[in-house]
Amino acid sequence: MIDILVLAEIDGEAISPATLEAITAARALDGTIHLLLCGSSMDAEAVAEVAGQFGVETVHVAENEVLDVFSPEAWGQALELAIDEISPDVVLASGTSKGNEVLAHAAARLDLPFVANCTQLTADLADHEVALTRIQWGGSLLEEALLTADTRIVSIAHHALEAEPLGTDVADIEAIEMDIDQLYARTHVVGREMAEAGVTLATAPIVFGGGRGVGSAEAFAPLEELAQLLGGRVGCSRAVTNNGWRPHRDQVGQTGTRIAPELYVASGISGAIQHWVGAMASKKILAINTDPEANMVVKADYFVEGDLHKVLPAVIDEIKSRRT
Ligand SMILES: Cc1cc2nc3c(=O)[nH]c(=O)nc-3n(C[C@H](O)[C@H](O)[C@H](O)COP(=O)(O)OP(=O)(O)OC[C@H]3O[C@@H](n4cnc5c(N)ncnc54)[C@H](O)[C@@H]3O)c2cc1C
Repeated sequence: MIDILVLAEIDGEAISPATLEAITAARALDGTIHLLLCGSSMDAEAVAEVAGQFGVETVHVAENEVLDVFSPEAWGQALELAIDEISPDVVLASGTSKGNEVLAHAAARLDLPFVANCTQLTADLADHEVALTRIQWGGSLLEEALLTADTRIVSIAHHALEAEPLGTDVADIEAIEMDIDQLYARTHVVGREMAEAGVTLATAPIVFGGGRGVGSAEAFAPLEELAQLLGGRVGCSRAVTNNGWRPHRDQVGQTGTRIAPELYVASGISGAIQHWVGAMASKKILAINTDPEANMVVKADYFVEGDLHKVLPAVIDEIKSRRT
């Protein structure tokens, strides 16, 4: 039986959905799953309840006040110390920017290899190997690789799989007192502000994305209206943020947000690889474009060929007429 240690990320007051994906991926290795919770600011019992439902056996709480706020160096040292203590065969985190950064720090400290953004893994303990599929080149290449090391450090690409609970078990809780270098207490959180209420671009069930084809900031009004009518969010391409039509927080893609809605409606977006990387986890894609050969159209599940300035108002009229 192998031991797998998963790094927990916290989202507000709860264990993050991305971490639940990493725990779900850990179950494919058929071992004992441990979860590392950095800091004591979270309610460990609440974490143990949720983590247990996903298959975690023990939540290890790394205790040191430096760990109470996110600091990649301090969390990296905590992970190094937890690896020393638990001796896991495999160490996982979600491939978020935080997860990858902490794993990179721990790997560097331990002089171990680290493979980022994998979609699948299987372990062969006898050969000290883990077989991986990892995302390369911004999502345009899936690479099959073998990782050989005593402790294999791997991150799981965010949105690569669905987080699925197993049952109703509650994980055990164990505290580990950690001697963390006080030099890492560089980050002080003085307050928290919610940037926006309700669904975010990353979690919206439906996203209305607009690209250069929309033509101006004002022309995003129909996309806003559709998002409001159907409970979604507006996203955009980098051509749009470069033109100053929408803020960067709305950008989908490699240098924006990675989305995974039930439906992505991409209007006037060509589907360049850097945009596609952020959109490819969408369950279904509807492209509205004047060019039937645009990359987004070729990859979409559904396509409307036409001018978005005519198609979108027609869709709004249809929705409104069906609701009256
Ligand atoms: C390092 C790097 C990082 C990048 N990161 C990102 C990123 O995170 N996200 C991102 O989006 N891009 C990113 N880019 C930019 C990316 O390469 C593309 O330039 C960008 O995605 C193009 O945006 P677009 O599809 O809106 O515009 P275009 O490629 O110009 O496409 C416009 C589309 O609109 C269609 N169209 C025009 N008029 C209409 C109309 N009236 N009705 C319907 N369709 C119409 C056209 O047929 C075309 O398909 C990055 C680039 C680099 C180099």
